[in-house]
Amino acid sequence: MMNPHDISAVYSTPATGKRGRLGVKAHGAVQGVGFRPFVYRLANELGLAGWVINSSQGATIEVEGDADSLTEFLRRLQADKPLPCVLHDLTSVFLPAQGDTSFVIRDSNAEGPKTAVVLPDLAICADCLREIFDPTNRRFRYPFTNCTNCGPRFSIIEGLPYDRTRTTMKLFSMCAACHAEYDNPSDRRFHAQPNACPRCGPHLELWDATDNVRATHEDTLHATADALRRGVIVAAKSLGGFHLLVDASNQEAVLRLRRRKLREEKPFGLMYPDLEAVQRDCQVSSEEERLLCSPEAPLVLLRRRPGDGIAPAVAPCNPYFGVMLPYTPLHHLLLAEVGFPIVATSGNRSDEPICTDQHEALTHLGGIADVLLIHNRPIARPVDDSVVRIVLGHEMVLRRARGYAPYPVPFGEPPRPLLAVGGHQKNTIAAAVGCQVVVSQHIGDLDTPLAFESFRRAIADLSHLYELEPEAVACDAHPDYLSSRHAEKMGLPVVRVQHHYAHVRACMAEHGLSEPLLGVAWDGTGFGPDGTVWGGEFLRILNGGFERVAHFRTFRLPGGERAVRQPRRSALGLLHELLGEDAFANEDLAPLRTFSSRERDLLHTMLRSGLNAPWTSSAGRLFDAVAALLGIRQEASFEGQAAMELEFVVEGTAEVGTYPFHIGESGIIDWGPMIRAILRDIALGSATGTIARRFHDTLAEIIMAAARLSGENVVVLTGGCFQNAYLLEQTVMRLREGGFRVYWSQRIPPNDGGVSLGQIAAAASTGRRTE
Ligand SMILES: [Zn+2]
Ligand SMILES: [Zn+2]
Ligand SMILES: [Zn+2]
Repeated sequence: MMNPHDISAVYSTPATGKRGRLGVKAHGAVQGVGFRPFVYRLANELGLAGWVINSSQGATIEVEGDADSLTEFLRRLQADKPLPCVLHDLTSVFLPAQGDTSFVIRDSNAEGPKTAVVLPDLAICADCLREIFDPTNRRFRYPFTNCTNCGPRFSIIEGLPYDRTRTTMKLFSMCAACHAEYDNPSDRRFHAQPNACPRCGPHLELWDATDNVRATHEDTLHATADALRRGVIVAAKSLGGFHLLVDASNQEAVLRLRRRKLREEKPFGLMYPDLEAVQRDCQVSSEEERLLCSPEAPLVLLRRRPGDGIAPAVAPCNPYFGVMLPYTPLHHLLLAEVGFPIVATSGNRSDEPICTDQHEALTHLGGIADVLLIHNRPIARPVDDSVVRIVLGHEMVLRRARGYAPYPVPFGEPPRPLLAVGGHQKNTIAAAVGCQVVVSQHIGDLDTPLAFESFRRAIADLSHLYELEPEAVACDAHPDYLSSRHAEKMGLPVVRVQHHYAHVRACMAEHGLSEPLLGVAWDGTGFGPDGTVWGGEFLRILNGGFERVAHFRTFRLPGGERAVRQPRRSALGLLHELLGEDAFANEDLAPLRTFSSRERDLLHTMLRSGLNAPWTSSAGRLFDAVAALLGIRQEASFEGQAAMELEFVVEGTAEVGTYPFHIGESGIIDWGPMIRAILRDIALGSATGTIARRFHDTLAEIIMAAARLSGENVVVLTGGCFQNAYLLEQTVMRLREGGFRVYWSQRIPPNDGGVSLGQIAAAASTGRRTE
């Protein structure tokens, strides 16, 4: 498996002492990062003639001069390349000299298969930041300042190779000053495709909800800052879509935003003016600080400090804030002006896709925002903010979008041309492009027609960008997922991939792991081939397939999908499996108390008859059930809320041992003894935190026991449940002590955002098996 930072170089021997010519093909992330200007400067410095051109795969170079300089050129091409640039592969051959006398940058070559790496959008660099706050600079206070080291990429690219005419910046023609920079090889903006200035580039406007222009250009920033100070909700067009902004300390304004956005309790992201302000409100480790200030600039989950000045409605019942720093010049200018943290949440209603166009925003966000801060640089595709958490000293990407997508995952053997349509929740799609897999940006839950439309657009977009001609399409084994149904209609052979197997394959692809190994995939829901709902799975990966070596004892979910938003239903199903009719006798248990007698009768009938009460082995629902039994949460406003709160109460409790459990011969993990012990602890009045910690520690012990039984010594931990930092830490610690090699999802989300990558990997290994 190839590491993205390695170079596999194939050199020919230089002809010493003679004039020669060298042809170089550079594959990787070289477009839009100042690679060609770098090559130009290097060639000139070494007195070499020739040319460089962007190609559909990366860049092609031919240089001519004495042999020593050519060797030095090759060495420095790798050693001194610009920082954001990553070479996947560099091949070179010696050619006969042709007598070139100067070095030129040629126009891009659009021929050939499209495998060049499209770079993600990058946060503003230090040099550009200095310029926008320098009153003597011609870009003073210009919100669209960028250079080859920073700025928009993925959100403006319409086609490959990456050139201004194939970006949304084609609408703006550069003024003489910008053109001079663009043409000057020693300038930071040499061939910076989105280069612009106040004279020739995009500009701002402030609209009210009926599209009256309230302010333009420079006045817009003052007017927007003023609106935010007054608690007004602002829809602001950013890099990859709209944000909804409001003063984060204004409880009334935040509640108003929640009401209008139809978002009850899911935490809102925050944007702080600077790092110092973040450190006042949150604990920030050095790793978290690096991430906040990185070119990816994601929302980072940070532990709040007591006494922060943030409105309680921003993140109810949550000890963490999702925090990011300004990442565009526009954000920097706005935040410097207001001087306080603001809510910056995706510009959409509830879980719909993020809005990208100002006219569309008038319709979709008009009822939410009071004013719209817009600009006239079109956004080629929606790209949300990424969400990252630091766990065990490593970043764990929970939502992969801006800054990360569409950076590809290198793949050992080139897979056949495949497309994968992902799952249903937190959907992403993926495609095998050359010897790498491109995973799309986060698309979202495919629950609404708008979300489904956005999913279809993403498929068309990826297909167009990379000129995909897939041989087959991979989808989830669930026949009713909209993504699976869409795959059926594409007129291609369909490869159905079991959900948890896809989770494990995604994590394997991320780390370049090969079979055999044990995959532990724990999440809320996934279609099981035996007709039950899977979700607490131990899969041995071998021979391009999997074997289910262990799973949780099943229980019924009364009301099926409705149990996702009602942890108390999982609790009742669990109790019914354990105690039978006696489950209903525990009337003083928290989940039972909250049902009316009518509801109880109905649930009783469902559980007895099994109608609309599917069996599940889901670990996510087990978390829900325990959270409900402990009285932490009976009804959830988003999936995983109860499990998250169960993790939060563990905080600060001392080590207190584990509960008993039993693994049967057929690999069925019986949680019965554990739940009986939890019920005893509840009856004894043990502290909630203590019980929660014992529950988590028991789960880690269960994984350890199942790993021993499997006989494998490599273990992969993935699925939404492993977003739980305490569970992951405890499990990794135990497995490492037990001598296992442990891997978990990091750059590719453990949740369903990683499923599309896993589908490609699974379909590719199936192909290999049958060949
Ligand atoms: Zn810059
Ligand atoms: Zn200009
Ligand atoms: Zn899943």
